[in-house]
Amino acid sequence: MLFACDIASKIFVKMRQFLFLIFLSVFIGCSSCNNSKTEDAVVNEPPKPDYSHLPKFNEDSCYNNIAKQVSFGPRVPSTLAAKKCGDYLIQFFKKYADTVYVQHTVVTTFDNHKINIRNIIAAFKPKLGNRLLIASHWDSRPFADQETDVKKMRTPILAADDGASGVGVMMELATILKNNQPERGIDLVLLDAEDWGSNTGNDENTYCLGTQYWCKNPHVAGYSATNGILLDMVGAHGATFTLEAGSMNYAGNFMNDVWKTASALGYSDHFVFENSGGITDDHVFINTMLHVPTIDIIYHDIGGAKWFAPHWHTLNDNMNIIDKGTLKAVGQTLVAVIYKEKVS
Ligand SMILES: [Zn+2]
Repeated sequence: MLFACDIASKIFVKMRQFLFLIFLSVFIGCSSCNNSKTEDAVVNEPPKPDYSHLPKFNEDSCYNNIAKQVSFGPRVPSTLAAKKCGDYLIQFFKKYADTVYVQHTVVTTFDNHKINIRNIIAAFKPKLGNRLLIASHWDSRPFADQETDVKKMRTPILAADDGASGVGVMMELATILKNNQPERGIDLVLLDAEDWGSNTGNDENTYCLGTQYWCKNPHVAGYSATNGILLDMVGAHGATFTLEAGSMNYAGNFMNDVWKTASALGYSDHFVFENSGGITDDHVFINTMLHVPTIDIIYHDIGGAKWFAPHWHTLNDNMNIIDKGTLKAVGQTLVAVIYKEKVS
């Protein structure tokens, strides 16, 4: 029994070695098979764009630009805070842009206030024909009507995200454009009285009063641009930007390009390839009145109770919700769009 057992165990050991060799050869075969597939995929993939030469967007100074605007208080048109903040912004952009245009006018709100407003346009390379328009509103909503507490609903909002974030990004872009001359014309457009609109229903035209004035009376007669990018609520923690229907309707290819650029830079957590319903914002008027194909980069709360972020038109729209990572994602994507291949 012992002998028989010994022989049997030796046979078993040999069999195990044999099976192991078969397993090893199959495994190596599969691995090399997978390797060749990976190599094929790499060969067939278009080369990744090289963004290493691009100027770096500084999210710290962008954050400070937002804090500076918020420090004036709510920038509600026709208030002292708006006067002071507007003056500050004009002086700021004069340091960096080739030309700064300031439009003054008076408009009437849906609740019958006659308000003084200013649109501020900072132009870089104003003589070039191939222009990119980047816009944001700089005013604050005069009431926090999305608050659930009725007592808070008439309070103006600080609008750190809903206004100041887009302007803060443009301020940082201005410093980059000054030090890295673009090969195309760039217009940074700060629009007033976007957010003094009614929320009672079918009244889209009560919003974007500064934009409607600018589209009827552009700062340069016959003004046009190749494309436009509107920034609205681009600074909050965890912000997600989707393919908003109005933007896709007027500038779908351009929007896809911007989202692809963001993905290539590693920002696909923020720039999500998901279609979402259309909204009323400045880009609607720029598309329909000025006919510049313009997209809206705006925080859409995917799966949320409202289309917009939870802090939208509430008193929570303050510096606590601003996130430097989000600012970097938006700002660096815009730098890549502006400079594309090379910086002169
Ligand atoms: Zn708003």
